Amino acid sequence: MKVLANDGISPAGNEKLEAHGFTVDTEKVAQDQLAQHIKDHQVAVLLVRSATKVRQELIDAVEGTLKFIGRGGVGLDNIDVDYARDKGIIVQNTPAASTRSVAELVMAHLSGMTRYLYAANQQMPLEGEQKFKELKKSYSAGTELQGKTLGIIGFGRIGQEVAKIALGYGMQVVVSDPQIDKATVSLAFFDGRSLDFEIATQPMDSLLAESDFITLHVGGAGKALVGKSEIEKMKDGAAIINTSRGGMVEEEALMDALDSGKLSHAALDVFDNEPTPAMKVLMSPHTSLSPHIGAATLEAQDRIGVELADHIIEKLG
Ligand code: NAD
Repeated sequence: MKVLANDGISPAGNEKLEAHGFTVDTEKVAQDQLAQHIKDHQVAVLLVRSATKVRQELIDAVEGTLKFIGRGGVGLDNIDVDYARDKGIIVQNTPAASTRSVAELVMAHLSGMTRYLYAANQQMPLEGEQKFKELKKSYSAGTELQGKTLGIIGFGRIGQEVAKIALGYGMQVVVSDPQIDKATVSLAFFDGRSLDFEIATQPMDSLLAESDFITLHVGGAGKALVGKSEIEKMKDGAAIINTSRGGMVEEEALMDALDSGKLSHAALDVFDNEPTPAMKVLMSPHTSLSPHIGAATLEAQDRIGVELADHIIEKLG
């Protein structure tokens, strides 16, 4: 059975598919030649990331040939999912593959911003030689994470993974999620030992009041969960990390709170207006920023390929 990985596939995923008798083609076919290529080469599985679009017209053209559309990553915006499923085509994404990558980025931002690394990294090349002592003074009021409270809004895959790492830091973890009463997270150590923690969720208002840092991991689209009134309920000097979706934190309210000193820092991997975030956000002296790279690690790429391969083998193997 033929697989066309039009936006690529990791070597691990490729190997797994070929070991199960699939033929994997990683040649990139232009969007306007895709339908003909799928029919001519009897492609049963089309794997895409965000570049290749799978719209109704293409789905109609390959009906009867294509059996499976795999999306490496989470978002399915580039695929007419319901239309494909109505035609009997399986559509599968890989939501779990990047969980650890996002969770580690959260902790990187958290550790970095509490020690002003985002600012020190900018200033050291410019002034480190001339003003070393002044810079040392500027960045000498950092804080430790141990003993602080991390509030996690949204306790699904990524929220639970963040909790594991934060517990390892010695942080207290409080969580809010309307769909979950409690969850057990299991910390696995290098020597095979593990430790289970049962964490009960709590109302958003008490999480806002208790947390030194708040991180958002809410699924699905929707209106902002943290705006002016939620920020007012937070501790003075608290910080926010958003790696979930632009729009989950009201950017204007966030910038006002950073300017006024109500909040000390914010870390953002996702923005209101991607790929052209607001200049005020980019230029703020209180923000630790990354260009939506939460899922972007080599390990996640590997896992995406393997996760897709597992689904294909299960459904078509
Ligand atoms: P998930 O579906 O496993 O968990 C989401 C959780 O949010 C669920 O438990 C749900 O009950 C909870 N939730 C929904 N509404 C809520 C609310 N109002 N308050 C509190 N909790 C609420 O999803 P996940 O895999 O953990 O992903 C979380 C987010 O991370 C998603 O928005 C996803 O798009 C984003 N993400 C970002 C990157 C990146 O590159 N930065 C990568 C992967 C995922």
